[in-house]
Amino acid sequence: MTLAERDAKVIWHPYTQMQTAGLPVGIVKGEGAVLFDEDGKQYIDAISSWWVNLYGHAHPYIAQKISEQLTKLEHVIFAGFTHEPAVQLAERLLPLLPDNQKKAFYSDNGSTAIEVALKMCLQYWLNKGQKRTKILAFNNSYHGDTFGAMAVSGRSAFTAAFDELLFEVDFIDLPTRENISDLKSHISNLRSELACFIFEPLVQGSAGMLMYEAQYLDELLHHCRQEQVLTIADEVFTGFGRTGKRFASEYLTAQPDIMCFSKGLTGGTMALGLTTCTQAIYDAFLSQDKMKTLFHGHSFTANPIACTAALASLDLFESDDTLANIQRIKQRHSVFMEQVKVHPKIRAVRQTGTIIAMEWETGEQTSYLSSLRDRIYNYFLDAGIILRPLGNIIYILPPYCITDRQLDYIYRKILDALNEI
Ligand SMILES: *Cc1c(COP(=O)(O)O)cnc(C)c1O
Repeated sequence: MTLAERDAKVIWHPYTQMQTAGLPVGIVKGEGAVLFDEDGKQYIDAISSWWVNLYGHAHPYIAQKISEQLTKLEHVIFAGFTHEPAVQLAERLLPLLPDNQKKAFYSDNGSTAIEVALKMCLQYWLNKGQKRTKILAFNNSYHGDTFGAMAVSGRSAFTAAFDELLFEVDFIDLPTRENISDLKSHISNLRSELACFIFEPLVQGSAGMLMYEAQYLDELLHHCRQEQVLTIADEVFTGFGRTGKRFASEYLTAQPDIMCFSKGLTGGTMALGLTTCTQAIYDAFLSQDKMKTLFHGHSFTANPIACTAALASLDLFESDDTLANIQRIKQRHSVFMEQVKVHPKIRAVRQTGTIIAMEWETGEQTSYLSSLRDRIYNYFLDAGIILRPLGNIIYILPPYCITDRQLDYIYRKILDALNEI
């Protein structure tokens, strides 16, 4: 039996309608931007394995560091105990962030990093004796699949089965020149109830790589500060170079109170979540009263292997190669964008840094459930490219080590697909 057939007997896959989905592809090996299946077929990983991989698969440097750490310390309870990788990671990462970020709280994935951020904000106000329980978020946002993270995400097919149980969130449109003053007065009107505002800076990934201007977000964040509404930058996806700068928040002058990281944090090697915050938020939990404690943690909080992977990943992130690669991909994408945007089957193209997204003309509205999606997906799989369209939106989000030849092949196949599908 193949891996895929054995899988079909025992596994239930994420986001997958198991009745109609084809057999999964059994992957046995990865190297650079390429994955190998059990028949030896190669695939270019054009989506960085769900946006997590930065430097290529099975990176020898990260592997070596992890392997050394594994024989030293694999895990230890993180309440009452600490270890070198967790401390060193916070010591190295905090100085790379906006300079108001002073404390690091670990968890083990992106959704949990968001849950922690939400709890920090809600309890911050409680600890200060103020009743502020409302949360502000953008329409079409995506912050994860656990209940709190799902609640602050836009209502969609993903949330539909649970909508009634999700706490109420005030959703606003992305800021533009036209609506910015309305958004600001909306916030002012709600200010005494608003605990926090959570946002994906510059790019709303799951929504279909929707992009918006830093300028108006910046204005919105300054306004939140003025109205004492705490702000949470969800950089789970945008962190670590994706948008062309180290963090999307570097495009802003306003500093968020809280930041969330996961995905690229470990170079895509291990599950790890990180929530950072200001001194003021941290201080609001200091008390003789135990009820003011942040009662949150996970068994694998700050796992030493995951922190070690993140440290090794930071070494690679800070090397000249990575910055050059990010610039190279950005440059190549923008050349391709000019080429593809005139195609009659392309409704829109957009790019931020290493992310390029194209909306395929379907004759119907853009939708995650678009029937075109499976045809596009299978077309590229046959061609040895992993692209995972969000409905009729295809995007390229490559590991930074992708070669020019591999990029050219993807670009060419996209043009072929536009003509053939
Ligand atoms: C993926 C993602 C999350 C959730 O992270 P998981 O590790 O998948 O739980 C949260 N926010 C954003 C912006 C994401 O892209």
